Amino acid sequence: MFTDMFQRMSSIQSRLDSILSSLPQGTRLVAVSKYHPVEMIMEAYEAGHRIFGESHVQELQEKRSQLPADIEWHFIGHLQTNKVKYIAPYISMIHSVDTPHLLSEINKQALKCSRKIPCLLQIHVAQEETKFGFTPQECLDFMAEGSWRSMSGIQLCGVMCMASNVDDDAQIACEFERAREVFKTLKAQYFAQDDAFRECSWGMSDDYPIALQHGSTLIRVGSLIFGQRV
Ligand SMILES: *Cc1c(COP(=O)(O)O)cnc(C)c1O
Repeated sequence: MFTDMFQRMSSIQSRLDSILSSLPQGTRLVAVSKYHPVEMIMEAYEAGHRIFGESHVQELQEKRSQLPADIEWHFIGHLQTNKVKYIAPYISMIHSVDTPHLLSEINKQALKCSRKIPCLLQIHVAQEETKFGFTPQECLDFMAEGSWRSMSGIQLCGVMCMASNVDDDAQIACEFERAREVFKTLKAQYFAQDDAFRECSWGMSDDYPIALQHGSTLIRVGSLIFGQRV
């Protein structure tokens, strides 16, 4: 039993270490803990990790109540507007803002708890129909329209994307580059003086080495650290 646990512990730690050691300066790891038990999160926590990503509100709420308060929780999944209120008091970053309506609800709930919530705009670059997000053009149009400027409860910090789930590295790279173009355009047009607008959230277990070559500042890795989800 003890040996078992020890092996599991050192393996989470060593997987974390090997990912962390591959990251360039300024790039951070979100350890995606969805569907994994709090015990495994604690192992990563004890190895020194503090940034965890979840994609379901109820699961996040339950885990958070059982885990140390200094964990930085990032929300990475599709977020329903009626659930924003539950996470608004504490969430460190919402990566998956996929509609103007969601952004204004985050703003509203953030103001209720006197917060400014860091948000990323999710850009749809993958070929799959089912992926959420703004198309690059929708994102540029939304920013040009300007309603975000009066939302003092949100801090726009960058963009997020998910590449297609394919084996073609060139295609994945091309999709990351499309999101990176959106980031660069927004940075130049609206945030040149704003250091907070710096995040490019892309790269998962299967494609993070490609993401690192294409401007990622936040990688979101789950199964490579915690194993297959159950
Ligand atoms: C699950 C998930 C990840 C992590 O996926 P892995 O393949 O387990 O690394 C990253 N980003 C999002 C949005 C996810 O839902």
